[in-house]
Parts: sequence; structure tokens; C-alpha cells
Amino acid sequence: MYWYSTITLLLYVATTIHANALERFGDVSLPLMPDVHAPHQQNVQSLIHNEHVKLVEGDIAVPSDQAHLRNLVLSSRKWSNRVVPFVFDPASGYTAAQQNTITAAMAKMTEQTNNCIRFVRRSNEPTWLRITASTGCWSYLGQIYTSGAQDLSLRKDSNYNCVSQGTVIHELMHALGYDHEHNRPDRDNYIQIEWNNVQSDLFYAFDRQPASAVNTFNHGYDYGSIMHYRQDAFSKNGKPTMVPTYPGWQSWVAQMGNGNLLSANDIDKIKKHYGCA
Ligand SMILES: [Zn+2]
Repeated sequence: MYWYSTITLLLYVATTIHANALERFGDVSLPLMPDVHAPHQQNVQSLIHNEHVKLVEGDIAVPSDQAHLRNLVLSSRKWSNRVVPFVFDPASGYTAAQQNTITAAMAKMTEQTNNCIRFVRRSNEPTWLRITASTGCWSYLGQIYTSGAQDLSLRKDSNYNCVSQGTVIHELMHALGYDHEHNRPDRDNYIQIEWNNVQSDLFYAFDRQPASAVNTFNHGYDYGSIMHYRQDAFSKNGKPTMVPTYPGWQSWVAQMGNGNLLSANDIDKIKKHYGCA
């Protein structure tokens, strides 16, 4: 299958993830970040079809030496001067319309944050995002290199549709240093994980982060965050894998994983982390 033709790093990470997936069930004790888009798992592709690549889990890549950087924000490296330089990988063959969708999503983030974060075409900056159609929809957390290109994968073809505003913003949030809302340490007070509905090889997608590794900026749990997945993410049977439990959740449940914009809390977290608030 063509998704095996991925870069060596990703193969390494994916293989490591596979080896640790079950060990990580329901716990956060292992430091490995498991969220690369697990291209070796045969059922991932069908899941992606089901979810239209709508914020599916497994979309964060972390190099093995930075696997401890598992967080919403804490300890991930900020982009200098609140500017994220980027290029489109010429080999990815994005159409003009697809590039427009991606740059429009960037502009939307800039607009929503009142110019706190900007995305600019790379000129001579030492490090930058290379937006590429690789093995799915994924990103690293924060800026990971002091020089060179850092990949962010937005694949768009008959099997993957990562080029939509919501997914682009979601992946860019990872690149800014933010992890998933439903993985935060206190999530069990707000959602119940229905383990019996989760694909057994994807338990790791529902790990809780250790409180010591994250910063929620004192914001409450946000069902409407762009960093929250749908109720049925990684379901093996179509039933919910995450059931909201907090009083009043009904007003939010329809928005879980369905947003196309930063939530108010997402905006505030960017502003606080990047020094605009
Ligand atoms: Zn994600």
C-alpha cells in the first residue's frame, strides 16, 4: 500500500507507537507520544472515510527524542515573534484551490486571535513549516527544530481529505504547541470513555495527559474546542467512544469535533501562550 511509503522517522515512530499502544491503555505512565497517524494500521483508512478525516486522533507526530513533549502547551517550543513561516511542498501537488483553503484557514486564525499569530511565506527564516501531502493529517507539537523544515501533513486525495478549514486549523494548533482537549488530565470529569466501543488497537488515542505536562490556562473543559474530537472517534461499532457527562453538555455535544473555527478558549490559550493577552 502506498501509505507505507512514508519517511523513515514516521515509520520509526509509528512502529514504536504500535509496540506501546496497548501498554498505554487508560494510563499516562509511558512517555511516548503515540499520535502519529499510524499508517500501518489497516483499519485507519476506513476510519478516515467514516470521519471524512474530521479531526481523527493519531495526527500528532513527535520525534523520539522529544516524546516527553506531550501536552496542551507546556514545554513545547514557541514560534519566534509569533510568526510561523511556511512553504508548500512542491512535490505534494496542491492545487491553487487547495492552497487557498489552507492559507484562508491560516488567515482565519490570525483574524480570530487579533493578529496574535501570523503565518507567512518563508523567506530566510531558519525554520519553517513545510506543508506536505504525506501519510494523512498530522503535525508535530510546537516548533521542534532550530533549523530546517518541519513537516505538517495535509493529505488530499481519494482516501484523505485533510484540506478543510477545520482540519487545517486543528493541525496548525498542534504546530503551535497544543494537544487534544479530550486528552487533558481532568477529562474524566467531563466525558466518559466507552472503552468497549473503541478499536482495540487505538486505545492510546484516549490516554489522559499527566497534569504536570500540560497547561490548560485555567480554562474549563471545552467541548467546542477545535482540539476536541467527535463523539465517535475511533469507534469500532459506530457507537460513541466519548460520552459527555457534565451538566449542560447537551448544548455542546453537537459541536464536538465538528467545529471549523477556534473556540473562545482556543483563542485565549493562543493569546496567553504567545504573549498577546
Ligand atoms: Zn489532532
